[in-house]
Amino acid sequence: MIREAVIMAAGLGTRLKERTTFMPKGFLRLGELPIVEWSVQKLIAAGIERIIIGTGHCSEWYEELAKKYPLIDLVYNKDYAATGSMGTLLLCAEKLRAAAALILESDLIYDAAGLFVLINDPRPNVILASGATNSGDEVYLEADSRRLLLGNSKKKAELGSVYAELVGISKLEKDTLDAMSAYCRAHAEDQPTMEYEAAMSALSRAAVEGKTGKKFAIGIRKIEYYAWREIDDESHYEMARREIYPRILENEEIRAVKREVLLNPGPATTSDSVKYAQVAADICPREKEFGEVMEWICGELSDMVGGRDRIKTVLFGASGTAADEVMISSCVGEGKLLIIDNGAYGERFGKIASSYSLPHEVYKSSGQVLPDTGAIKKRLLDGGFTHLALVYHETTTGLLNPVPELCRFSREHNITTIVDAVSAFAAIPIDMEQDCIDFMASTSNKNIQGMAGTAMVFCRKEALEKIKSYPMRSYYLNLWDQYSHFEKTGQTRFTPPVQTLYALRQAIIEAKTETIAKRYERYSACWKILVRAVRELKLSMLLPEEAQSKLITAIVEPDSPAYSFNELHDRGREQGFTIYPGKLSDAATFRIANIGDIRESEMERFTVFLAEYMKGLH
Ligand SMILES: *Cc1c(COP(=O)(O)O)cnc(C)c1O
Repeated sequence: MIREAVIMAAGLGTRLKERTTFMPKGFLRLGELPIVEWSVQKLIAAGIERIIIGTGHCSEWYEELAKKYPLIDLVYNKDYAATGSMGTLLLCAEKLRAAAALILESDLIYDAAGLFVLINDPRPNVILASGATNSGDEVYLEADSRRLLLGNSKKKAELGSVYAELVGISKLEKDTLDAMSAYCRAHAEDQPTMEYEAAMSALSRAAVEGKTGKKFAIGIRKIEYYAWREIDDESHYEMARREIYPRILENEEIRAVKREVLLNPGPATTSDSVKYAQVAADICPREKEFGEVMEWICGELSDMVGGRDRIKTVLFGASGTAADEVMISSCVGEGKLLIIDNGAYGERFGKIASSYSLPHEVYKSSGQVLPDTGAIKKRLLDGGFTHLALVYHETTTGLLNPVPELCRFSREHNITTIVDAVSAFAAIPIDMEQDCIDFMASTSNKNIQGMAGTAMVFCRKEALEKIKSYPMRSYYLNLWDQYSHFEKTGQTRFTPPVQTLYALRQAIIEAKTETIAKRYERYSACWKILVRAVRELKLSMLLPEEAQSKLITAIVEPDSPAYSFNELHDRGREQGFTIYPGKLSDAATFRIANIGDIRESEMERFTVFLAEYMKGLH
């Protein structure tokens, strides 16, 4: 797995004259974005967690870009005008944490398939190459019979033979980069402006000739008709705009998965990059490499709810309800549990507690108004409860429960709190420490926008330590065993959902890029569009707007004999929308969720469809 990338972006780009006097080459635009931003987005979609950009000329442009993409780290080459690309690359290589990385030039447009090809190439060191481009500025590559790099030059005559053209995207091991850096430093006097391809060629040739370690031999991966262009001068820019860029867009369109807009409350719509993240090399999940993937996932998830130093995330291969069951069966010990039930998920807590015959009481409250916190607090104390369980966002109705208030009160009275945040996490910002939540459940397929199949339990460290000696009521769904086994071995006790976890990893990268706060803004904007349409259609909502989560809306069914939920649902599906039935016994509703990778324009389209259907009823 490749997790880091370096973009070399320090150069002056003098051949583009006045275009790049006050701007780095990477900021030439194609379509709506600068070319380097296209590249950043492709790297993110390919599962890169961290991008190091080596800057120099007009570095402030990159500082702006880094504000928009939290995964970018900048390295400034103050000698950019006097060094070549290798001078910048060696500074970046020092900052790498991973054992291998993708290395890219900043002035490229390319088909993302090239990244996939390099990531999946079995060779640890490999550079991407193409057939003839006739661009007028080719870097030709010479290879031996095994397609190992022997040399590069802009002049064919300088090479023994020409095998391919250098694209400017490579996969290199850290050791190889370090050896290239050493080579560059050794030639600081005679080649002060060394380009990185010269260092690659020198190192690889020496390896092929047996003068250095064999492992430094660099493979060439040639794609004959690869769609790419380096933009070095005006004619390249023109060719890129006219010919290559449209070809790249077309290629990407070919790979698009059929769009389904899921307006049900999970599994939610996912990005294509999350779907494609599941297409990865097979691996035994007991390998250290996969343990590191899970460790990364747990650390990042913990950071989203309060920080990895205080919160531990424990994963199970299961749906979200399993996380609820884990908490109820593992965290109550010999205590006594009060459950707030104001919807189907609170009720489910009660059923789980009953099935384990746990001492518990269910506090029932209407799903249509906020529960009476005063009465709950009183009941907690009067009943001598040790544990409180409640649902953060009651998906049944879209009601947000007063979790911080009740949990803070519980903390003051030494009552352990168990929260189902399955449909709140990764949309509504939650800090478990601040909100005094001890244990909290979520799933991979709702607001985090991954695939179904991973349940997660977030645990405050101190609360987790306390359950160590609690009775084991469930074998598979045991929180302490799952946690301590992973801590000790870097493995889950039983087979984890490998591909779902790869998708979750990708979903986390994308959530960090969007940020949870911005994600909630996007969801809220979609909700506003829906609510406006609902009002215009004179439909009513189950909850007053101020009590709504803005994540799901329960809409009262119109009382027309012509209305049929099934018909509305089926017609919606034909147009690519999936809606959801209501779940309350005392009110006929249907529900529209606005979570997942959906856009405002799609919600607009849905409201047009909804209006057409509703108007057809009269
Ligand atoms: C979706 C959801 C769950 C879990 O449902 P699964 O079908 O098990 O994934 C639990 N609680 C709430 C509040 C939910 O919205």
